[in-house]
This record gives sequence, structure tokens and C-alpha cells, in this order.
Amino acid sequence: MPRDSGDTAKVLILIGIVFQLLGILLIVGLAALIPFLGALVLALAIIPIIFLVLVYVFSYAPTARGEYGKARTPTLIFGILSLITFSLIPAILYIIAYVKLRDADSEPKYAPSPSASTWGNPYFAPTPAGTVARPPATGAALPSGSKLCASCGQPAAPDARFCRSCGAPFPPG
Ligand SMILES: [Zn+2]
Repeated sequence: MPRDSGDTAKVLILIGIVFQLLGILLIVGLAALIPFLGALVLALAIIPIIFLVLVYVFSYAPTARGEYGKARTPTLIFGILSLITFSLIPAILYIIAYVKLRDADSEPKYAPSPSASTWGNPYFAPTPAGTVARPPATGAALPSGSKLCASCGQPAAPDARFCRSCGAPFPPG
């Protein structure tokens, strides 16, 4: 379920936008009942409306496109701005969305990263130029009949009694 956190974040941001929009409309509607104050509040309402447009453009839109990393920091900033302007419910929604975006970013996307499956696999690990390829620790492509030193992993002749590399004794037989 790779896209769940991102979808959750998208819904949270959308609910936050709707909440703030309703709050603006409520305040403007109440203030409109008072003749002079109404015009003033209407003029001031442009600020939170610009804020909501910014939330939509920088937080909701990239989240909807799946660009979680891009949406993350703006979402946190909008959460903090909402918090300091006492828009508590949207603030909580944006901050939860920020956490979800962080989760979504660390979840596997469409294809697993190639490095995850090949690291630690000696047969796929690239050999850097200029380094001497060491024989694998467990036996592949060894001359038939040869054995490996249990102490250092170097190959040894089948009849060897001591490791030529580290001197460890081999068990008889
Ligand atoms: Zn050895």
C-alpha cells in the first residue's frame, strides 16, 4: 500500500483548506452585518484567502501529483502559520499531513531501488577499478577438490595441512 500516507495527507490538507475557508466566510459574514466594519473585514479577508491559495498551490497540488517531498516543507510552514494565527484545527490537520508526507516519501514507490537488492550480494556487487577481486567467502568457481580456510577464507590445496595465507591448521581428511 505505497500511496496510503500520501492520500491521507492529501485529504487532511483539503479538509484544512475547507475549514479555513469556512472560518473566513463566517467572520466576513458576521462582520458584514455591521456597516463600516464589514467593508474593513472584507478587505482584510484577502490575506487569509491568499494564504489558502498558497496552501493549495504549494501543499495540496504537489501532494495530489505524488510529489510528497516537494509538498512537505510548505505543509509544515502552513501548519505553523495556522497555529500562530489560532487556526487550531487546520494547524493540526496540516501538521499531521506533514508527518504523513514524510511517511509517504520513505515508502517504496513504483519500483524498488536497485541498490537495495544488489548490495550485500557478492555476485552483483560491482568491483571498483584498481582493486584486486577477492575470492568469495563461500565456494563458487573454485578449482575442483580445493578447500577454503575456515580462518581467513583463502582457498587452499586439497591436501594442504596448513593455510598458506594465515597458517591456520586444517582438520585432517
Ligand atoms: Zn587461512
